[in-house]
Amino acid sequence: MKILGTTVAPGECKTIQLSIARLHTGTPIDIPIVVARAKKEGPCLLLTAGIHGDEINGVEIVRQVITKELHIPEKGTVICVPVINVFGYLNQERDFPDGRDLNRMFPGFKRGSLASRFAYHIINEVVPHIDYCIDFHTGGASRFNYSQIRLDAQDTKALDLAKIFGSKFIINAKQREKSFRHTLRKLGKSVLLFEGGKSLHLDRIVTKVGIQGVQRVMHHLDMRDYSKEITKFYNLPEGVMITKSSWVRAKHSGMFRSHKKIGSLVAKGDKIGTISDPYGSFETAVKSTYDGYIICANHAPIVHQGDALFHITRATTSNF
Ligand SMILES: [Zn+2]
Repeated sequence: MKILGTTVAPGECKTIQLSIARLHTGTPIDIPIVVARAKKEGPCLLLTAGIHGDEINGVEIVRQVITKELHIPEKGTVICVPVINVFGYLNQERDFPDGRDLNRMFPGFKRGSLASRFAYHIINEVVPHIDYCIDFHTGGASRFNYSQIRLDAQDTKALDLAKIFGSKFIINAKQREKSFRHTLRKLGKSVLLFEGGKSLHLDRIVTKVGIQGVQRVMHHLDMRDYSKEITKFYNLPEGVMITKSSWVRAKHSGMFRSHKKIGSLVAKGDKIGTISDPYGSFETAVKSTYDGYIICANHAPIVHQGDALFHITRATTSNF
């Protein structure tokens, strides 16, 4: 396997630097790409995180997979890119320094904007080698996502993997033009997009779900025997496929408290939070407008009228 001009022989593990840009100070910026290749042939799995630079929990999942040497396959190859958007990660921001969302720049151009060039190199130099990808994300800003897999349900290979991965919720999510997931799908790759936790935050449970998901997928693809470990994992929850969901929004501005655990099942009319003024004279209940699971909750202490508070499922199926 030759990746970015470096040969990785069977049985070798190498960290290859993708160097395509410099900071304005002239400091070169490298994206380390960790390639672990088994002696035996097998599929190639790509693990990516940090397309959005402030989604640190995804980075933590891939980091732990590498640190614990869980990425070393017995068959095939695992390629890990823990931080794709190094610029955003440095600034602890979602986007590139020019304000562009890398996840809307794929497949990119060789001579395009900085984000577009990054996208181009990932697509042309890394992606041709892979069969499967798990891309790790978190909720944006203070919105905390319950661990969930987003995919194109028509991709039956990805759907099978999503069930194996073991997150309770699977969302048949619309493809967004020029996203990494959309571009990989067009190239015939099977992609799971993992969402868990919120930006600039580490959550141990979310991290665990992500790491165990990687082990389950590798085991399923016959890349490494994790049968012993899997017996010790938490019981696989029965998967729920979400086909429709909506936000409950703030009817008033004020201080916001959530009363429900994320992932819990609520009924229409249930009190799920409160909004109050800071002076003790006004307090109002936030009620669920749907029967469903809370799959994302806003953790901001202060919200404005119209802000998204709870993302609630409206149609689900456990038979898929
Ligand atoms: Zn993201």
